[in-house]
Amino acid sequence: MEDFNAANEIQDLQYFGEFGGVNPSISDSSTYTFLSAKTMFDTFEGNAEGCYLYSRHSSPMNLYLAQALAKMENTAAANVTSSGMGAITTVLLQLCKSGDHIISSRTIYGGTYAFLKNFLPPFQIETTFLDINDFETLENSIRPNTKIVYCESVSNPLLHVANLRRLSAICKKYKLKLIVDNTFSPLSISPIRLGADIVIHSLTKFINGSSDTVGGVYCASQELIDDTKNVNTGASMLLGPTMDSLRSASILKNLRTLHIRMKQHSHNAMYLAERFERDGLKVSYPGLPSHRDHELMKSMMHEAYGFGGLMTLDVETTERANALMELMQSENLGYLAVSLGFYKTLFSCSGSSTSSEIPEQERLKMGISDGLIRFSIGLDQDIERTYQKMRTCMQKTGVLK
Ligand code: PLP
Repeated sequence: MEDFNAANEIQDLQYFGEFGGVNPSISDSSTYTFLSAKTMFDTFEGNAEGCYLYSRHSSPMNLYLAQALAKMENTAAANVTSSGMGAITTVLLQLCKSGDHIISSRTIYGGTYAFLKNFLPPFQIETTFLDINDFETLENSIRPNTKIVYCESVSNPLLHVANLRRLSAICKKYKLKLIVDNTFSPLSISPIRLGADIVIHSLTKFINGSSDTVGGVYCASQELIDDTKNVNTGASMLLGPTMDSLRSASILKNLRTLHIRMKQHSHNAMYLAERFERDGLKVSYPGLPSHRDHELMKSMMHEAYGFGGLMTLDVETTERANALMELMQSENLGYLAVSLGFYKTLFSCSGSSTSSEIPEQERLKMGISDGLIRFSIGLDQDIERTYQKMRTCMQKTGVLK
């Protein structure tokens, strides 16, 4: 990859608080005064640069966080939302109107899948789900009313990698917008540099990294961000998925250590994946040469941040998966919990949790078996010790013979 360093972009930003504080001051207000009535009118019309109106529209702290995330993703602008789903739904509802068509990867987060599959059709917005790297089927699925190609750079939970360069070329040819959810690979993959138009994150995960809040962001052109905030027609302004300023402040502080955390998550996940594979377990991790998309990911990533903190282990049955997860939790190896990017390892059975919105038949077609455990590997200091303890749990539960 050419030398774009998202961590430098974040660190080069310089903010001062109202009293010279080294962090920006938090504006704890929902509404803002105007010295003249005309400025208030102009602000409503979108013609008063630098004026704040009402915090559902924007607030100083939300703009600071959005600016840092736009820098990270190399876009002109961004908007932060109260959850990752808030970002996804805002962007899709802004860009798609009744009668439009979306093409989406089949392997995506269950909530996004449910939104596309169940929520949008009553508004006459239809989605075709497919293998996103099957370019022939994709091109054949494009219709005159297709507006969007949607995917995750590294998919949840199967860790399939989307070929963003190829997808971008197709989108440019047919004038479609390529939207990429980059939640699993912040810093490591820069979708805009590979041709995406819009990048989305659930901030809830690695970016915040402390499992204390939900949050989201979409990073895009200034025009799209402004459109979503338009007081008459903006999905963000009118649906109101606004992040609270106090939360923006805490997420901005956590964002500054993301590069260190990602390196450690990736290092630990690689360490465990290599050893589990050597033990003969059915482990899947994009950093392993045996992973179907290993070379593709290598060609797209910034190597310094590694292949990410997510790994899956297929132990075949729900019973075995449950026994292993309960034992690992009681041995203090992590928590039986959904979500990812925490300092502790988190594990859950995707089929019965974060992908349960996807019908069983479809899930099995995707390759999400009942015994598939998704691990978000933590920041453990002594990963060999963790490996040995996990191995013992696997022996006790019959996962490892
Ligand atoms: N995108 C991905 C890849 C996810 O894993 C999730 C949640 O698990 C979301 C989006 C939704 O984010 P949130 O839970 O912050 O709304």
